[in-house]
Amino acid sequence: MNTSKYLTALENAICKLHQLPVANPQQVFEATVDLCYVLRLGKVEIAVYENEAAEHSGLSETVCFYDSGKACKTVGTSKRIAVVDGTVIIYNIYPIEGETEWTEEEQNRIHTFIALLSTYNGKSRLLKLVHHLTYYDSELDMYNLKQFMRLAHTLCQTGQISQFTAVRFNLKRFSVVNQNIGRENGTLVMKKFIRFIDDLLDDENELTCRVGGDNFLTLIKNDKLQPVLDILSGTGVVYDESRNERIFISATAGVYVIKNMGCAMLPTDVMDRVSLAFHLAKNTSKADIVYFNDDLLARRKHNNDISASFSKALEKREFLVYYQPKVTIDGRHVAGAEALCRWMHNGRMMPPGEFIPILEQGLDICKLDFYMLDTVCKDIRRWLDSGMDLVRISVNLSRRHLSDIDLLDHIIEIIDRNHVPHEYIEIELTETTTDVEFKDLKRIIGGLQQSGISTSVDDFGTGYSSLNLIKEMPWDMLKLDKSLLPDKGDESPVQNDVMFKYIVSMAQEMNLECIAEGVETKEQVQLLADNKCNLAQGFYFDQPLPVQEFETRLDKNYIYNR
Ligand code: C2E
Ligand code: MG
Ligand code: MG
Repeated sequence: MNTSKYLTALENAICKLHQLPVANPQQVFEATVDLCYVLRLGKVEIAVYENEAAEHSGLSETVCFYDSGKACKTVGTSKRIAVVDGTVIIYNIYPIEGETEWTEEEQNRIHTFIALLSTYNGKSRLLKLVHHLTYYDSELDMYNLKQFMRLAHTLCQTGQISQFTAVRFNLKRFSVVNQNIGRENGTLVMKKFIRFIDDLLDDENELTCRVGGDNFLTLIKNDKLQPVLDILSGTGVVYDESRNERIFISATAGVYVIKNMGCAMLPTDVMDRVSLAFHLAKNTSKADIVYFNDDLLARRKHNNDISASFSKALEKREFLVYYQPKVTIDGRHVAGAEALCRWMHNGRMMPPGEFIPILEQGLDICKLDFYMLDTVCKDIRRWLDSGMDLVRISVNLSRRHLSDIDLLDHIIEIIDRNHVPHEYIEIELTETTTDVEFKDLKRIIGGLQQSGISTSVDDFGTGYSSLNLIKEMPWDMLKLDKSLLPDKGDESPVQNDVMFKYIVSMAQEMNLECIAEGVETKEQVQLLADNKCNLAQGFYFDQPLPVQEFETRLDKNYIYNR
């Protein structure tokens, strides 16, 4: 054999293969055809077995990339390579029919050729693996966020992105699904649910990816939005074929119908906007689906400004306590008061509705509540020291505190540090929704009662008012939300009267004090009197008052004369 021809062909094969990161059989053929010719090969075949069991059963994926058309039926030489991941690869080389046998030198060179192929194959398998690990979610065997960003990047660059809609969604209550049908079935259900969406996708640039856990993102042509939303709004998924057991899966979603912004659009903008809508759907909005619009960006900026200025404002004591009296119906005198927060910010008095929901998204609300409690305690101490008549003051605590293991100690520490007798403090908490919160709430309410601190259920009648909540915890007071009071515009005043009456008598039977919030009219006061609900808080008697004005109401002889 001509050594120089062999070396040239070998060199060419090495160079060409080197330039191909991952090649198809045709490309390998082109890179090695000269070498195969020089080596007098009839056919080159590579059989890949997934594992040894597959090898025993002869189940292979076989690729033949070189065939001279004159190959012998039987293999001339072969090499078996077992890869660390369990795969078995067999290289089969056939001689040419009717030709003289390979010399020893040729055989050596053929083995060098096999070694070259094997090294190349190893490299491309490794690259494929790296690619898979980078762009796929291995648990669900679907794309991951990196692939989404990569695709969005390309579409942004070509300007095609404005033909697409991004939908980010979270499967509702999936932890409960996992609990009910087991994790393995849960994963199966997740896969099947996503397949319903994937089945709608037919454009090569559409995809669904897993962001993590039960969070997904899909990029679809605009006309697919409605069918995708139909699936997300609720679809039955079979998880046990044999018994045809189905589970109903739905999702909360943020939708961004991508606008044409020219080349300025970046994949991170797409992600940011769809996520903004998604978080609103998931955390704050009552709707399951929220569409992105520019107002959301402005709102986020406002929220960020509030959060950013909070700490400084707390330091500068910009938060003020206003007191709203609680008045007895029979004697028209002040029996208590609720401390309500106001924020004097940039020369404007902000009501709590503007900042509390924002602070409640993080833990800042807890700092504010402790600040309020501390300020109230300081006021009480001052009133006591100056010999004023006193009433119990209630302070609102956000539900965000419930996960704080040391909450009880913290409350008592603040009250005791200010030397305030416990009977002057009442803690208002709203109803809870989850079992975890229920347990925490029970522990805290029990602890407060033992320490002689009163507690009240705030806004009763708005949330998931449950009898369990009041039956299982030693509350002192039920604060009936203003929506339970009939007002002039009501369509069914009689029904509302009945409901009000029922709740008040239930509370009385359970030995709970009752107060009506948001009392504004004479008729409402009469209704309270008729039903022996002896406490009212509302504009009919007083607005929340600045501290000095409230102090005038603390006089024992102060009587509301309306
Ligand atoms: P809330 O605890 O239910 O407080 C009662 C709200 O009803 C107060 O609103 C009060 O001004 C309002 N109100 C009182 N009487 C009437 C009336 O006759 N008619 C009407 N329409 N409204 C009346 P405000 O002060 O705006 O507070 C709103 C909510 O903000 C409070 O509801 C409470 O949930 C929260 N909040 C206020 N201060 C704090 C605080 O220091 N910490 C926490 N965590 N939440 C607070
Ligand atoms: Mg309250
Ligand atoms: Mg309330």
